[in-house]
Amino acid sequence: MFEESKRMESTDMKTEPAVQTQSRAARRSHGRVFLLAERCKGCRFCVEFCPRQVLAMSDRFNSKGYHIPMVIAEEQCTDCKMCELLCPEFAIYVVRIAGEEL
Ligand code: SF4
Ligand code: SF4
Repeated sequence: MFEESKRMESTDMKTEPAVQTQSRAARRSHGRVFLLAERCKGCRFCVEFCPRQVLAMSDRFNSKGYHIPMVIAEEQCTDCKMCELLCPEFAIYVVRIAGEEL
């Protein structure tokens, strides 16, 4: 009896970390990307340097005639803010969305 309860205890201990890891991954924060299209000059920095290929150039132009990017895979955004930091026109920013499932 004692041996059996010990065995169950050790099995529980083995499974616990995996359950915690899965649960943390499901709640991981990510980013929501916003573009201020009228500020954009179409330099493509945000598209080229996004490490997760969240952005692509669209076929749209703003009122000044600049080719603007678009979000194609927002679920991949890690909120690293690289696009926001590199944009010379302050035309793109990212807001952290906490605790949503990816
Ligand atoms: S925050 Fe990072 S991952 Fe998200 S779109 Fe910008 S560069 Fe890409
Ligand atoms: S980095 Fe800024 S200015 Fe350049 S394409 Fe992206 S949003 Fe437009």
